Amino acid sequence: MKENFKKYSLNEARSAMLALGCDRYRGDQVFKWIWQKGALDFSVMTNLSRELRESLSERYLVAGLSMAGAGQQGVGARQEGAGVRKYLLGAGDNEDVESVYIREARRRTVCVSCQVGCPLGCRFCATALLGFRRNLHAYEIADQVRLIQQVTGTKCTNVVFMGMGEPLFNFNGVVGALEIITSPLGLSIGRRHTTLSTVGLVEGMEALLRSSIRVKLAVSLNFADEEQRREFMPAARHNRLQDILKVARAYSLRKERVTFEYVMIRHVNDHVRDARRLIELLKDVPSKINLIPYNEHPLLPYKRPTDAVIERFHGILLQSNHTVVIRKSRGQEILAGCGQLSGADRVLTSSKTSV
Ligand code: SAH
Repeated sequence: MKENFKKYSLNEARSAMLALGCDRYRGDQVFKWIWQKGALDFSVMTNLSRELRESLSERYLVAGLSMAGAGQQGVGARQEGAGVRKYLLGAGDNEDVESVYIREARRRTVCVSCQVGCPLGCRFCATALLGFRRNLHAYEIADQVRLIQQVTGTKCTNVVFMGMGEPLFNFNGVVGALEIITSPLGLSIGRRHTTLSTVGLVEGMEALLRSSIRVKLAVSLNFADEEQRREFMPAARHNRLQDILKVARAYSLRKERVTFEYVMIRHVNDHVRDARRLIELLKDVPSKINLIPYNEHPLLPYKRPTDAVIERFHGILLQSNHTVVIRKSRGQEILAGCGQLSGADRVLTSSKTSV
């Protein structure tokens, strides 16, 4: 069986070309064809000799994600919201993932998934309804960005790992994807324009801190009370708030502020006492706080707080010395907002048929 050249990191691509008796830079050329030009066939790689293209084709193929649903036609945008599009992308093994493209004034952001489904089981999140299916390979994560650039005809400026899955549970896949996404020979998106969001896995956060990877880190805190956090986010049972904050402090010593996300859920964590607790908790952790008003989902019982409650909560937090923003989550009408990715049509259809 032919090997998929797209699976190769830059170094692996170089080694593969050395093994074919070529210079190392030939690996750079093939890598660029694949990631910058989206080549799916060696025959188009015209800066390689005909013999080399032929021997590559004998040994390898180039296969990535494809637009699911719309078949080969390459039309994947299922619905369109104000500057937000959700794409369903298929992998070779019949699994698919959702990615979101967000167009703002000067930013074009892709929100990528790093797993099919998610193992975390957060009670308020629609992705949890899918359960965990598998980790995505590095090239399958990076290919979400490449494919969306291709179908939208734009160059993306930012990448956020806030789609389906937990990035730190797929550490190698995510690190490999970051290499492709940020490499000047790959998708060439700046490291500081790349954000990894985690539920707060302490070991993974420490590993990231020790590594040479410099991306922005966001932690989904969501609750300032340990008990309540454990109740709603099972992963919190093994990752205590104080340990998460310790790592966040270490980041800040390196002049990299961690962003804490706080999903506001009506009557659950939107009280004045929750805001005060949050200030107390973060008092010696230089950080930024993103308030995300809850995005409702037809299969979940939770609600978004009223605007007045959100404003009151925001007002209290502003009395601290943190930067606090209410994040406008876009795309709720097409279930493309934070925590709404669930292959919803599939989940909704199967739940309907089972009634
Ligand atoms: N597993 C990672 C990456 C997923 S990011 C993490 O937990 O950070 C998804 C973000 O959306 C997280 O901050 C999560 O807390 C938030 N979220 C989940 N469900 C949501 C919902 N229904 N409305 C708003 N935000 C939600």
